[in-house]
Amino acid sequence: MKAMQSLCVYCGSSSGRLEDYAQAARVLASAMVERGIRLVYGGASVGIMGSVADEVLRLGGQAVGVIPESLMRKELAHAGLSELHVTPSMHARKTLMAELADGFVALPGGIGTFEEIFEVWTWAQLGFHGKPCGLLNVAGYYDGLVSFLDHAASERFVRPDQRRMLVVEESPAALIDRFASYTPPALPKWVGRDET
Ligand code: AMP
Repeated sequence: MKAMQSLCVYCGSSSGRLEDYAQAARVLASAMVERGIRLVYGGASVGIMGSVADEVLRLGGQAVGVIPESLMRKELAHAGLSELHVTPSMHARKTLMAELADGFVALPGGIGTFEEIFEVWTWAQLGFHGKPCGLLNVAGYYDGLVSFLDHAASERFVRPDQRRMLVVEESPAALIDRFASYTPPALPKWVGRDET
């Protein structure tokens, strides 16, 4: 198993209603810096995205941003990152973020966050990569989504192995520990299979 060197964090470009969300971003940042794990994220200075990057940098860690030109031009990019990659499109951005990271976590966020974590989870279920994907369920933010995903599994639109590929934890340290011991299922055996 490859050691976790870089973690991709998807999260809100807004701060959300509760201070708990930004606080959890800072706790995650600190858990990452303690373990020498580099942050890969969307490169913005706003919302929870800014909180996680600011804290990684404040603690002396590495924060790598990947931002499309169109958002760069709107001056949303963080000015103090260790590295900033500017891509021609959103698709190129997501591909590069996925390549640069050894695992993917969604903190609370909105549509962009949902889309990003679902995309890498989809790539995982197809066996395009074997990296762990997870939700950091801060203050119960993802409770409704987790119940729905369990419902999708019990209705047999999501296979149990696919559902288990998405790790859900409330504490950043627990999530990183589970990522470190994650082994992807042997996908080719069950892709397209009917029996659970
Ligand atoms: P959202 O959850 O809708 O706030 O979108 C946040 C996610 O989408 C982040 O993980 C980013 O990769 C991307 N994103 C959305 N808005 C921005 C922005 N203004 N600047 C940079 N990335 C953004």
